[in-house]
Amino acid sequence: MRHLVSGAAGFIGSHLCDRLLADGGEVLGLDNLITGSRRNIEHLASHPKFIFREFDVTQPIAVDGKFDHVWHLASLASPKFYLAYPIETLESGSTGTRNMLEIARRDSARFLVTSTSECYGDPLEHPQVETYWGNVNPVGLRSCYDESKRYAEAITMGYHRKHGVRTNIARIFNTYGPRMALDDGRVVPAFLDQALRGEPLTVFGDGSQTRSFCYVSDLVDGLVRLANSEERFPVNLGNPVELTILEFAERIKRLMGVNAPIVHKELPSDDPKRRQPNIGKAKQVLGWEPKVGLEEGLRETVEYFKSRLMTARP
Ligand code: UDP
Repeated sequence: MRHLVSGAAGFIGSHLCDRLLADGGEVLGLDNLITGSRRNIEHLASHPKFIFREFDVTQPIAVDGKFDHVWHLASLASPKFYLAYPIETLESGSTGTRNMLEIARRDSARFLVTSTSECYGDPLEHPQVETYWGNVNPVGLRSCYDESKRYAEAITMGYHRKHGVRTNIARIFNTYGPRMALDDGRVVPAFLDQALRGEPLTVFGDGSQTRSFCYVSDLVDGLVRLANSEERFPVNLGNPVELTILEFAERIKRLMGVNAPIVHKELPSDDPKRRQPNIGKAKQVLGWEPKVGLEEGLRETVEYFKSRLMTARP
């Protein structure tokens, strides 16, 4: 199996590359390193079946040879970064998706795009099921991310319907684990970094908003199962255990044995109030459900952050 992976030096992308190589595949990884890092793939530098190219997939992609699987993960997934780079975010979901789809079409390869729970916006249905169409502000601060992913889903369905490409769409809910960047801004790296430094944990708003956190190995397993399925419509991948952000901050303090205070900061605009995946479809169609509990996953992540903090930042 020959795989083309965009976002290969990113958090989830690098774990996916590890998995595809472990399964005996050959991987060409692309990443423009806007948020990804060479550090995430440095352990693969001498792997005989892995090649990395620093490349922006919003530019026309010239890659030789025939691919069996095309995976489009390149994206700016953290609110901090997509607010800083709204145009690049829109481009990676639109032009980037189209360019990757063209390779899949050329090679009659399977294609998987990583979409997001943000497609549901600030959801009026709870938990979120794939048939819910969402409540998205099309011109709000988060729209560059939400709408680019909604477009990515639409053009993926277009290539399937018009050109018969064997496509899959994963709607990823909050995922965490080793290789998240320390300066990523998302809640898991933010709280872990703060707790390890003995700084106050910054809870945005009153902390009553909820999220459901999936460990990265579970997520990658879901992606691989989905890519080998015949399901063409979106499938939620996430852990359904829902927590308020305030509860999450308390959990982290307990787990790490720190007594850092919690400080409240302004809630970002359009921050979804509740988020929890309904994973009934993933269970039924893929036989998938998360296996790693929050405590176990956080312990692994804390170890990673500790080792990173001992070396250079970020
Ligand atoms: N959040 C927080 N403190 C932080 C970072 C994030 O309270 O330092 C909140 C944020 O407002 C949101 C939740 O944690 O309600 C998850 O935010 P994240 O940026 O991780 O991802 P999102 O789910 O919003 O895409």
